[in-house]
Amino acid sequence: AKLIYFFEEGSSKDKGLLGGKGANLAEMTRLGLPVPAGFTITTESCMKYLEEPSFFEDWLKKDVLEAVIKLEAETKKSFTGDENILLVSVRSGAAFSMPGMMDTILNLGLNDLRVQSLARLTSMDFAFDCYRRLLQMFGEVVYGINKDKFNIRLQKMEKHFSKTAADFQEKEHLQVIESFKELYIENERVFPQNPIDQLLEAAKAVFKSWNNHRAKVYRELHEIPHHLGTAVNIQSMVFGNSGNESGTGVVFTRNPATGENKLFGEFLLNAQGEDVVAGIRTPESIEALQQVLPEAYADFKRYANILEQHYKDMQDIEFTIENGKLFILQTRNGKRTAKATLRIALDLVKEGLITKSEALLRISPGTIDQLIHPIFDPQAIQNVELLAEGLPASPGAATGAIVFTSEKAKECHALGQKVILVRQETSPEDIEGMIVSEAIVTSRGGMTSHAAVVARGMGTCCITGCEALTVNEELKTITCGERILTEGDLLSVDGTAGKLYLGEVPTVVAENDQNLELLLSWADEYADLQVRANAETVQDLTTAIEFGASGIGLARTEHMFFGEERVLEMRRLILAENKEEIREALDKLLAFQQEDFYQMFQVVEDKRMVIRLLDPPMHEFLPSDLNEMKQLAVKLNKHPSIVEEQIKRLQETNPMLGHRGCRLGITEPQIYQMQVKAIFHSAIQLTKEGYTVFPEIMIPLVAEKEELAYVRAFLIETIESIFVNHQMEPFPYEIGTMIELPRACIIADQLAQEADFFSFGTNDLTQMTYGFSRDDIGKFIHSYKEKNVMVNDPFQTLDQNGVGELIKLAVTKARQTKENLMIGICGEVGGDPKSIAFFRNIGIDYVSCSPYRIPAARLAVAHASI
Ligand code: PEP
Ligand code: MG
Repeated sequence: AKLIYFFEEGSSKDKGLLGGKGANLAEMTRLGLPVPAGFTITTESCMKYLEEPSFFEDWLKKDVLEAVIKLEAETKKSFTGDENILLVSVRSGAAFSMPGMMDTILNLGLNDLRVQSLARLTSMDFAFDCYRRLLQMFGEVVYGINKDKFNIRLQKMEKHFSKTAADFQEKEHLQVIESFKELYIENERVFPQNPIDQLLEAAKAVFKSWNNHRAKVYRELHEIPHHLGTAVNIQSMVFGNSGNESGTGVVFTRNPATGENKLFGEFLLNAQGEDVVAGIRTPESIEALQQVLPEAYADFKRYANILEQHYKDMQDIEFTIENGKLFILQTRNGKRTAKATLRIALDLVKEGLITKSEALLRISPGTIDQLIHPIFDPQAIQNVELLAEGLPASPGAATGAIVFTSEKAKECHALGQKVILVRQETSPEDIEGMIVSEAIVTSRGGMTSHAAVVARGMGTCCITGCEALTVNEELKTITCGERILTEGDLLSVDGTAGKLYLGEVPTVVAENDQNLELLLSWADEYADLQVRANAETVQDLTTAIEFGASGIGLARTEHMFFGEERVLEMRRLILAENKEEIREALDKLLAFQQEDFYQMFQVVEDKRMVIRLLDPPMHEFLPSDLNEMKQLAVKLNKHPSIVEEQIKRLQETNPMLGHRGCRLGITEPQIYQMQVKAIFHSAIQLTKEGYTVFPEIMIPLVAEKEELAYVRAFLIETIESIFVNHQMEPFPYEIGTMIELPRACIIADQLAQEADFFSFGTNDLTQMTYGFSRDDIGKFIHSYKEKNVMVNDPFQTLDQNGVGELIKLAVTKARQTKENLMIGICGEVGGDPKSIAFFRNIGIDYVSCSPYRIPAARLAVAHASI
């Protein structure tokens, strides 16, 4: 196979082989953009080398040497000679962008002689600056010598000569170089003077960086396979640091925070690329370039436009200007906030660049989740102290305790503490700490600094360039004006506004985003599966409907039995010793529930609402503590020993497999009867007030046709007598069942005879199918995942092979009995974007999930349906 491609030989289609960066360089070259010449060593070569290091010497080396000769011809410069020197950059580039995760070396090809030649061509200052950078980057990337050690040496020299490096004389420059080389020697290494040796060593080091720790962590976080490998891009250098008509910058074609269609970015005059990304010097806004170098600015605008039209997406472009001439070094689809993702997609549709369905497919359900994240309560925010302001690098709102290191962040996170990682600036080594932090704050760096880019990608709230803070990572203090903060102090970070507050601030739901509503209305145009909500309180029902739920798929009635007053009546009922007590308790519970249902039906109006009758076992309503039992006895006017005995009697070894669900309905029919009375009394009242109410009642945990038949029969009887008592013409209603047990799936055809609808309770169905306790799986699932025994938690993402097959079987069987039986999913996986396509494909009518998951589910449904 071909191991090396020159830029003019590839295209954007070769991302797998050339990596994202290589493919883009090839594509830009093809488009006629001013890209410095170069070539790409393939990702396949990387994997071959990592598997068998001798591959490099035996096969690859020869091709690299040939490519260098060709590059010399193309650039009309020499890589080995001492005149008209060619220098190259060596950069990693995987198929998926992994910003800052792997290694880069610039100015490769300099040595003691060639630095003089470069000095003659440009300036001494510039040439030695390049050489120092090379020694430092090469030392770090190839030999693992900490780059700070070089900086310390440079600083010592500057102090010693009492001037900055920019003012050094030649002999002073040479002394620094000697000191850098000594550092190599101290590490039992020698800096190779031969440019070819430098190149070969650098390429190997870049290959190896594919397997460095932070790259592995990043891949795991973003679910990037480990077997892809990185390409190596070798490109002739252009110099942004060759004077004041030179510079370098990073620009997004649209604003990555808001999506506004306006160039957004930064540049630095007389600088190399690393300076912008590392956030060491604070750059200027790209607009300022128009004044300084108007021609380069105009060229840039033109090329940016070409690239955006070509890729039909917002681009993140790196450029360098060398003595007034603009070069494009890199372009890629720019990382952006959720808000910008949405706006850009909608704008691109308006601009006619992409279609509605393309726009929908471009947005991941996870992006939607970020848009509906809470913000700080605008009222509460007035009463807290604004500590400082920085750049709004990544939106969101979060509170946590200050930590200064990635390690500490991980440590606290493991203990369940919420932390804010505060640093001068972050670097790729901080990735693990950044993942576990609620928010990230840096005192330096811009909107394109490492912290900003990574946080936006993860959807973590972030402020960068918060210059009012003096962060001392060693002493673990932050000084801000008069104030000194230390580790553990609480901070609240508003990444949307770039504001940092002292202490804790409560959050509220984000305001409705009109762009989101528009996008979701497009999603609904494609959807052939409904999204309902699991909700039962008035507040949750309201939220669910605001988020676009087409109905309520599961209203669990448990909560109607809790609360101090109610639970007392429930306890009275459970512990009753005579009919009197039973009636008294039931009457009270009926009154409470009737009022609840009355409100709930009003909120959902003409939408469907499936009400699930009581499910949990009785002992969940009873105290377990002896003292509480005694108090209860007093309240119920009973002897404590009787209460105690009763409670003991109700205890079960295995409550999840115990006396719950329809089993309770059969042994204690008066409870279900009471619930149905409450439902129909309120429904009748609302009907009289002019509402249309369509009660759907659902029986949980059915395993046997006779269970359902029995409950159904007495419920119908109760309902009919209610209509008679109210002298009311009966209105339609339905009685359906949950499918939550493997046996229920297998006899679904029989159950369908007794049910008006089905809804899969995948929480219990998963629990009962796997035999994993849904309440305890958290104790070991992470270990399963770590050891690759399981990829997903089956309670979060449907187990398609097992539970999914059972569901498929049940759907097929049920529809043999009733062709048009309405079938929904109401367990947690109903809201899981990864599971939704499966449900759609097997003919489920709706999924139902908690209110906050609805917007993402609506998009996932569109993805499945397009
Ligand atoms: C289920 O089991 O999936 C379900 C929705 O019911 P619950 O979670 O209330 O048991
Ligand atoms: Mg259940």
